Amino acid sequence: MAHTQPAIDLSPKVSDEIRKTTCYMCACRCGINVHMKDGKVAYIEGNRDHPVNKGVLCAKGSAGIMQVNAPSRLRAPLKRVGPRGSGEFEEITWDEALEIAVSWLKPIRENDPEKLAFFTGRDQSQSFTGLWAQHFGTPNFAAHGGFCSVNMAAGGIYTMGGAFWEFGQPDWDHTKLLMIFGVAEDHDSNPIKMGLGKIKARGAKVIGVNPIRSGYNAVADEWVGITPGTDGLFILSLIHCLLKAGRIDLDYLRRYTNAPVLVNGDESSPEHGLLLRDEDGKMLVLDRRTGKPAPFDDPDVVPDLAGTWRKAGVTHRPVFQLLAERYLSEDHAPEAVAERVGISAKRIRHIAAELARVAFEEEIEIDQPWTDFRGVKHDKMIGRPVSFHAMRGISAHSNGFQTCRALHVLQILLGSVEVPGGFRFKPPYPKPVAAHPKPHCGVTPGKPLDGPHLGYVQGPDDLCLKDDGSPARIDKAYTWENPMSAHGLMHMVISNAYAGDPYKIDTLFMYMANMSWNSSMNTSGVMKMLTDKDENGDYVIPRIIYSDAYSSEMVAYADLILPDTTYLERHDCISLLDRPICEADAAADAIRWPVIEPDRDVRGFQSVLVDLGARLGMPAFVNEDGSAKYKDYADYIVNHERKPGIGPLAGFRGDGSEKGRGAPNPDQLDRYIENGGFFVEHIPDEALYYKPWNQAYQDWAVGMGLYDSPQPYLFSLYAEPMRRFQLAAEGHGDRQPPEHLRERVKTVMDPLPIWYPPFEDGHVDPEEFPVHALTQRPMAMYHSWGTQNAWLRQLHGRNPLYVPTKIWEANGFAEGDWARVTSAHGSITVPVAHMAALNENTVWTWNAIGKRKGAWALDEHAPEATKGFLLNHLIHELLPPKGDGMRWTNSDPVTGQAAWFDLRVKIEKAAAPEESQPAYPAIKSPVGQGPANLAWKVGK
Ligand code: SF4
Repeated sequence: MAHTQPAIDLSPKVSDEIRKTTCYMCACRCGINVHMKDGKVAYIEGNRDHPVNKGVLCAKGSAGIMQVNAPSRLRAPLKRVGPRGSGEFEEITWDEALEIAVSWLKPIRENDPEKLAFFTGRDQSQSFTGLWAQHFGTPNFAAHGGFCSVNMAAGGIYTMGGAFWEFGQPDWDHTKLLMIFGVAEDHDSNPIKMGLGKIKARGAKVIGVNPIRSGYNAVADEWVGITPGTDGLFILSLIHCLLKAGRIDLDYLRRYTNAPVLVNGDESSPEHGLLLRDEDGKMLVLDRRTGKPAPFDDPDVVPDLAGTWRKAGVTHRPVFQLLAERYLSEDHAPEAVAERVGISAKRIRHIAAELARVAFEEEIEIDQPWTDFRGVKHDKMIGRPVSFHAMRGISAHSNGFQTCRALHVLQILLGSVEVPGGFRFKPPYPKPVAAHPKPHCGVTPGKPLDGPHLGYVQGPDDLCLKDDGSPARIDKAYTWENPMSAHGLMHMVISNAYAGDPYKIDTLFMYMANMSWNSSMNTSGVMKMLTDKDENGDYVIPRIIYSDAYSSEMVAYADLILPDTTYLERHDCISLLDRPICEADAAADAIRWPVIEPDRDVRGFQSVLVDLGARLGMPAFVNEDGSAKYKDYADYIVNHERKPGIGPLAGFRGDGSEKGRGAPNPDQLDRYIENGGFFVEHIPDEALYYKPWNQAYQDWAVGMGLYDSPQPYLFSLYAEPMRRFQLAAEGHGDRQPPEHLRERVKTVMDPLPIWYPPFEDGHVDPEEFPVHALTQRPMAMYHSWGTQNAWLRQLHGRNPLYVPTKIWEANGFAEGDWARVTSAHGSITVPVAHMAALNENTVWTWNAIGKRKGAWALDEHAPEATKGFLLNHLIHELLPPKGDGMRWTNSDPVTGQAAWFDLRVKIEKAAAPEESQPAYPAIKSPVGQGPANLAWKVGK
């Protein structure tokens, strides 16, 4: 027998060159090495030096190669020639497209800027798009946060000056128990996978709380299949158990939270329920040494959590007493909530005991001295190694804001925030809520808005209301309906514009937001709103400009299309001014740059905005002589200064050696490219934990330009800004809610977290609609972004409705069956599949897999269009009428977050139709249809 083997090159050269940039196949922003061969993308791998992914690449990231070669890429600017919704367009030049845009936008800016509504989807340049909208002068700007996870962001920032995901992370190196709530697999993809790998290798425990056991919950050591919308009730019961057992960190509460701060107890005062302050505005605590109030930051004060202060016949009590009184009530006992949450009382007690055991009996000590903001020196860092992570599952409910607040209160009571083993902030967080801007809505024709659009209100005076009390914004953000809508309400823009409520607009300008399909509630209704005409035969929403890189469903509903590039063909910055890529122990930012040039007549959307800004004479985009200030977005990234020395990128400033602060450096982008596409600056050891109170961290943050002066603060177990809204509802002050909202504001703006049933429960008959219906996001598909991707479609080309055993058996379902699913709003008929690891009253499906025929250059018979479906058809932006003459929005009443997951349905077996219902006629594709087989081979 011959022993010779054929000569095979086992390590063929993959590429001629490697270009390092940032992935954009989801929002995690991993570093990637793009291997180039013959000038084309040959292969994508993870960048091992990158702070986010350290070389790890997911299925989506490696499939980027099919994203940049997708047949659905738009090729040139388009002008609508058929009726809206038909998909009939003609290609035009960029000059023509920009002239049309300017001819629409210029008169609006000069006469009535609020007639422009400019909303963007899940893009990563909001500090830039926000600046553009501000200089246009319209109050109508926001990104996608209102329909995504603003409850999580706002709940965190109002409670502890930071939140999960982009704002913070578990201390993966030290945590011993991680509890995740409502975490879907696509959000925080590689970082959480790497973190889970790390802690599981160490033997740490993971508890997953989610009605659905997929992804991260499937690898958790313990799965808690909670009833949707009851997480807040469960968390408050855990708090009850911990308080009852005395298993809370009193020292931490005294030093770093407003637990000891005195609350005004004078019921006759317009300040009743606000925190007591001295004449310098400093919060007062009761000093145990003197029995008298003293400023909270006095280094010698010994705060008393148990005492009360009596003055002028009024007793003032510390926050902690109000908190303990509320949550020690038997209403929060495990036995009182068990049935509703779907978790036994015994199990709730067991989980509370486990949290306490790990926090207090497995305490970590790190031998690292540090000094707090009071000047007190500590010789070590004490860790409570319990950490939490949460996502949309708990926040996309009408009780989501208070649920997120409850979770943070639980973390704080355990003393497990910003300590070793706990939850840690990522720069530029922590940042106290008072250090954020407030929202602005002051319009002057021809001039910029009076400040940034989005921010954090401190009380009714900060609401965006006109003089007559009507909403200043088209989405009604920052009104009594949703006072703390920190990310706007994108899901209400189209329906409000259509209704002319609060006013009519002229032009709707959107970017990367598939609003006629998977990004909208009431999808059929939205298609109608976008195409309806008034009595004059004009479209009710007169003009729509849309920018996207792909032929998504929304394209067909626009009048003018500005085609964007793919992520490998563009400049971008992942900025500290926006949503950066920092880690808990480092500040970091990154760029994208054109590793390939577009082969189509497309332009990066941000560069188009730079051009439009100059053509419209917007101050941020023109020099004094009226000439364009920036050549394109790359020029803006390098030379824009938000304030002197602070620009979009923190690295390689000045002569190239300056970090955080420094003059613009014309070579900055080259330096980023040389460095692998990112910049990272590590936090000194003595500043790594206790960041909100750590002098060394505060000084480091000022040096990096994150703050202008140190900003130490106390965590807000009690959220005073909420109390100001309650006071208004109780009849105090000049700005009070309208009568129909008074009771609701009193209830939901409680400064201590509360739980109330999801609103849909009170608007439909739970006996008629007994089943909860949810979506999850798969690991391999980020919303609809992977829809056109030839590799990823093979993983998720269709989506059954997953049905738990109880409902499966009750309906006599068998594999291959179909079901009719009906909500108070609509009905769908879809394929079903059995899943045992599921809350017994919940059905679910993957999000955004179903497609409209004709979109994304897919075959009209593609499984996404025939077997795939959307749950969106069952959800309305307004709740069903309940006989009070009102139509309430399907949103959280504090922030306005879209309450996607409040949905209740009934389910019954149905004859199999030809395709999923409802089925819509095909829309014409402006880019034709892709080939049946798509292959990509570079080199020989
Ligand atoms: S996790 Fe997201 S950013 Fe990272 S490689 Fe995957 S798709 Fe790209």
